[in-house]
Amino acid sequence: MSTDTDQISHTCKYCDTNTRENVVNMCLWEGERLIVIEGLPARVCEECLEQYYDNDVLVRIDQLRAKSFPVEQAKRVMEVPVFSLPADLPADELPDPEKNKDWRSRLDYDLISDVF
Ligand SMILES: [Zn+2]
Repeated sequence: MSTDTDQISHTCKYCDTNTRENVVNMCLWEGERLIVIEGLPARVCEECLEQYYDNDVLVRIDQLRAKSFPVEQAKRVMEVPVFSLPADLPADELPDPEKNKDWRSRLDYDLISDVF
């Protein structure tokens, strides 16, 4: 493991905001499989929540990917509910986007990361 902590910038490259150490979950697709990797150390932007990983973390994820994320090495297997949006929802039933700003920001947040 590298001890070079300077390899991760402490400033976000997108919004120039400070990042801080955190532990995150990563979700990624491998073909048809949804893979979750828990408890990754990362630096997370305080503004846009972009995540930055140490090279060691990325190498270890690549090692798992090279083995196609063997299920026998998984910590656990979880069931994931899958939704699709109804295409026939009338426009007057759609929520006012302005009123749902908070909800949308929370959704954006959840999509980007699961910060503990
Ligand atoms: Zn940022």
